[in-house]
Amino acid sequence: MQTLEKLTERFWYQTPVSETDRPILGAVVGNERTLMIDAGNSEKHASYFLDELRKNNIQKPDLVVITHWHWDHIFGLPALDIPSVSSAETKTKMQELLPFSWSDEDIDERVKQGVEIEFCAEAIKKEFPDHRNIKIKLPTITFHERMEIDLGGVTCVLQHVGGDHTTDSIVVYIKEEKILFLSDCLYANMYAPENNYTVKRTLDLLDQLVSFDADYYIFSHWKAATKQEFETETTMLSRFATLTKEFEGNQQSIEEEYKVQVSRELNEDERETLQFFVNGFNLDLD
Ligand SMILES: [Zn+2]
Repeated sequence: MQTLEKLTERFWYQTPVSETDRPILGAVVGNERTLMIDAGNSEKHASYFLDELRKNNIQKPDLVVITHWHWDHIFGLPALDIPSVSSAETKTKMQELLPFSWSDEDIDERVKQGVEIEFCAEAIKKEFPDHRNIKIKLPTITFHERMEIDLGGVTCVLQHVGGDHTTDSIVVYIKEEKILFLSDCLYANMYAPENNYTVKRTLDLLDQLVSFDADYYIFSHWKAATKQEFETETTMLSRFATLTKEFEGNQQSIEEEYKVQVSRELNEDERETLQFFVNGFNLDLD
């Protein structure tokens, strides 16, 4: 069950749905304008968010920002009759989706060819069980590296950060509220034969993220995390990246040293992350 949550005075968000891969959608409410963050995985998803805002008497969005090109963040765009902003790279990647057909057969064919991944194919079929009228609407405004939007009393910094999940990822820093909307940037690269993290991209990304002073961090497929939860995640990623480099991707050595550093066995999340770094190291060698 999706709910609309108020995190701070000027920031609301709708909770994610894992089955259909619906990410968190955000609304930053300024004195003059409202900025929506991400368009959702379908027109239904976007419309539902707008309905929830209306029910809570929140000023409707004037502008929407897209954090990266993945389907679950952009398929809702046609339902929004407002200008949209993205990085120039995101727009280029969205243009590549224009010729695609979204029938079961065509999606399955793209999975076979390695263009689409099984996980997304399944989620698309669940989100659009019958009328799969998917349209790709391109962003109105694009930027390189950085852009600031003044909403009246609250400012949003859109910053390109890249990372393994996808190179076009941006974050949205809501300055006055001290919220960093990470979207998916800290997740692994899933559009590859094996999910992976690479050492350099991870360390570069972490370097950029620590420069933002925030109390809350939005992970689009998880939740609004506290600073402490964010630090637990980033410390783990940083440790694995450093050890992967040191032990040249040797899974057993990395695991042994990691256990020493944390003084316990690895948990499930850490095991998975370690595997992704090992996959990424082997990829670097190819
Ligand atoms: Zn994504």
